[in-house]
Amino acid sequence: MKDTLTLKDDKLRMRALVVGKVPRSMEHQDVQVVDEYLDDEILREWGRVCVINVTPERQDETLLQIHSSPAGWSWRVLALHHSELAPFLSDAVLNGNDVISEELKPFPKLKRLSDVPKDKLLAYLWINETRRIRPMKVLSNSEIYRYPLLDVYHNQQQTPFRYLHRLIESGLIEVERCEDRVRYCQSCGSGHLNFVDTCPSCQSIDIKTFDALHCFTCGHVDDADKFVSRRAMTCPNCHTSLKHIGVDYDRPLELYSCNHCSQEFAEANVVASCLSCGHQNATSDLTARSYYTYRAGENIQRYLLDEQVERNTNLVLTGTVSTAVFDAALGWKNQLSLRHKHQDLLLGIKIHQISQFIAEQGDVAYIEFISAFAEQLEQLFRTTDISCQYADDTLFILLPHCDISFMSSIEKRIEAFSYKVESDILSLTVMSWALPDNRLSDANKWLLERSSELND
Ligand SMILES: [Zn+2]
Ligand SMILES: [Zn+2]
Ligand SMILES: [Zn+2]
Repeated sequence: MKDTLTLKDDKLRMRALVVGKVPRSMEHQDVQVVDEYLDDEILREWGRVCVINVTPERQDETLLQIHSSPAGWSWRVLALHHSELAPFLSDAVLNGNDVISEELKPFPKLKRLSDVPKDKLLAYLWINETRRIRPMKVLSNSEIYRYPLLDVYHNQQQTPFRYLHRLIESGLIEVERCEDRVRYCQSCGSGHLNFVDTCPSCQSIDIKTFDALHCFTCGHVDDADKFVSRRAMTCPNCHTSLKHIGVDYDRPLELYSCNHCSQEFAEANVVASCLSCGHQNATSDLTARSYYTYRAGENIQRYLLDEQVERNTNLVLTGTVSTAVFDAALGWKNQLSLRHKHQDLLLGIKIHQISQFIAEQGDVAYIEFISAFAEQLEQLFRTTDISCQYADDTLFILLPHCDISFMSSIEKRIEAFSYKVESDILSLTVMSWALPDNRLSDANKWLLERSSELND
């Protein structure tokens, strides 16, 4: 269902909307005042200018309400208080007592978008060049950072990184700067980690440091306490009297000793202990994730204004070719293999119920799925394999010089992936055909028959 939006005449749209108390600097202006709650009718109006002057808690609720509404992306929103979400979901945070110098007009670019935009978040970014998608630190969340704009427009449980990656690849958004990098637990994905020094031989965290001395005469290294006998310093090993640091002895390093196994060591083993699930991660096993600020990309305008440009939701693998090229390669390889008695394998994958999945979970969730699936498939195939997106839901992969025994390992990996898919709406059919095949003279027709087998 398409949202219906109210396009009021310009005069009304020029009238600013004030939620809460009218600030002093706006007292002489013709404004529309809303006590506290924006109603559905207002939230359907395009291009409103909205000044919010309520408590910080109410302000955040109002910001979320605006962005979840049909027309909120097109509003210019000014916040008069500092609040958690204001830096991420408003156009400016102003001081209530100051004269509001910000422009109180709708964005001029709005005139060029006549209908409901293809993507509200991208339209939001495009109409005002200063807008950004920024990560917000949320310590109560195990991801540590969330993107409030992605949360409100796309409502995903986890940050859709693969979706962001696709937007960057298509030039719809671009990275402005890296804000932070977080490492995550290998077991549960939490960013709440505690880095602890442990004993390298027994892994106990019950270790202590001590000062060590190093005797130059015999090379003995030991606890500083052991070098003190009566009032003089003497090596406990060679009994040389040590007078001058740097000449007779030195303090090499801080050393550790383990209270559990008594081992002494110079370098402790650092372990990232997960505060969420308790898993002890080796630091090299942690996954790192960078958080960036994004701005509109160079293709965003073309995408929003041009009916022709559609976003790519296809399964893209390296080595993907068009169906015509695939047909030709298949026919040629089949002839070659008949003559030289090679064995090839054709793999067909069909994804069922895509439209139902998109209807229920949104296309961001689908792009996340399809990108994760592509990553899994790419790990399975060789650079000499060629693939082709035969239909929106069907993929063929030709594996030259590969026999049917390879299928079991592919099937296992694909099965493992399908368990990981969180939705029980989508399902996969995977089939394989041994090549060469004597009946394959017209590759196009032959492939059509194979694709119908995937439907059964
Ligand atoms: Zn130990
Ligand atoms: Zn000594
Ligand atoms: Zn964990």
